[in-house]
Amino acid sequence: MLDADADPGRRAWVACPSCDDGCMTCANQKTCDLHWQYLLASEARLLFLQCPVCMRRRWHDSRCGVGGERPDYDPLWVFATYHGDAA
Ligand SMILES: [Zn+2]
Ligand SMILES: [Zn+2]
Repeated sequence: MLDADADPGRRAWVACPSCDDGCMTCANQKTCDLHWQYLLASEARLLFLQCPVCMRRRWHDSRCGVGGERPDYDPLWVFATYHGDAA
């Protein structure tokens, strides 16, 4: 189900690894009307996203901003931490 923090005013244009149905608009790195995800939270350069299609929630590494080239976290550990909560 949709997360309580999901806000149409806060969206991120990141492809969903489950749906992964990008179109030409996405390929051109434009803000697509169909393919985007809710931005539920962010921490440093990690974004917590929810796909409006499959409702999957996940952490996404934006690879920019705080943290730079040397991340001090383990992405798999982060995913595992939230995996049980993501059903
Ligand atoms: Zn698209
Ligand atoms: Zn999805």
